[in-house]
Amino acid sequence: MSENKRPMLDELKKGKWPSFVTEMEKEEEKNPAAKDLLGLLETSFEDNTVHWKHGGIVGVTGYGGGVIGRYSDLGHKYPNVAEFHTMRVNQPSGWFYSSETLRKLCDIWERHGSGLTNFHGATGDVILLGTTTPHLQPCFNDLSNNGFDLGGSGSNLRTPSACAGMARCQNACIDTLHLCHDITNEFQNYLHRPMWPYKMKIKISGCANDCVAAVARADLSIVGTWRDAIRIDQEQVNEYGKSGYDILNLVVKKCPSHCISFNQETFEFKVDDENCVRCMHCINKMPKALRIGKDTGITLLIGGKATIVQSAFLSWVIVPFMKLNKEDGYAELKDLFERIWDWWDENAKVRERVGELIYRKGMRTFLKEVGLEAKPQMVKHPRANPYFFWWPEEIAEMNNDTFKEAATDKEVK
Ligand code: SF4
Ligand code: SF4
Repeated sequence: MSENKRPMLDELKKGKWPSFVTEMEKEEEKNPAAKDLLGLLETSFEDNTVHWKHGGIVGVTGYGGGVIGRYSDLGHKYPNVAEFHTMRVNQPSGWFYSSETLRKLCDIWERHGSGLTNFHGATGDVILLGTTTPHLQPCFNDLSNNGFDLGGSGSNLRTPSACAGMARCQNACIDTLHLCHDITNEFQNYLHRPMWPYKMKIKISGCANDCVAAVARADLSIVGTWRDAIRIDQEQVNEYGKSGYDILNLVVKKCPSHCISFNQETFEFKVDDENCVRCMHCINKMPKALRIGKDTGITLLIGGKATIVQSAFLSWVIVPFMKLNKEDGYAELKDLFERIWDWWDENAKVRERVGELIYRKGMRTFLKEVGLEAKPQMVKHPRANPYFFWWPEEIAEMNNDTFKEAATDKEVK
């Protein structure tokens, strides 16, 4: 395709980053869908409008999600993308594949679809871009017979995703891959059968570096942490110091809670672990000398999402520390998930994410109704409202003698 036939798309090939236009142009000589897709996109830019109808009722037997119907209103002009449905395939935990697995996946997709893929979508799935309605069920059958499953789409649990965790990273406080795989299997029903007010995303990061951006992008953000002390190898700290590394300015002064004490003469390095917020900064800066603690678990946060109905939210701590137990199948965590989903399902409006529901009803109501205690770590910012409203049952309890006394002591009327 000469440069001036798609001048708008040519702009997307400029710059030092990889360009999807460049990659698709390599395909277009042998792949008519790629050629029409580029043509349609150029036309959309020219017309300043989208030529896709997004969504629809296509699917495969027994599943309510995993296939996103797409039809173009310019099918007469670009017949190879007139129907161009997307299939989402549940990725393996941590996105580890053998080349044999990838070949199998690509062979299936070349048989049934455009051959174009996106590794991976924002939620984490393998995205198979573009097939027709008659190919959906045979494609799913082939995927299923080869050990793949579809991911989530629509108002359901979206495919959980996790960082590479212990497979590659010394910072992993939890086995993110096992947890992700276990949760995915446990909640298959929620993943495949949309029944909720809107989407629900779970993302798992092994530490606060949050490589899967769980806090920004997941309704339920699971972040690995520890509750004992950072492990310090003083000899290695000395090595950093002797090599001229600026420990004071690059590490100590950057600690957000100012909980590191450091002697510039002797290089003695101490952490006040009571006040450490487990941000990972010092560990990232001196990985040979500092390590995560040994008593590890997770912090659970809620409500992260991009801008749709309300503005973008970062997720909010609801459980500062929870020990995970592989042996009982993470029962405590799953039980809490079920309580949260019940409350959200009962109370949310259509297309209201759980973070938005908490915003509308208040964190106090949420905590009470899912049975969580308020904790200092949940405070997002200092309060601006001096009033405190008691729950009616707390007032009733105060009518007991014991509480009357306590209330009088505190001058509570
Ligand atoms: Fe490693 Fe933490 Fe990133 Fe996971 S989130 S890959 S544990 S640094
Ligand atoms: Fe400070 Fe963060 Fe290191 Fe804790 S992890 S000592 S808060 S820099």
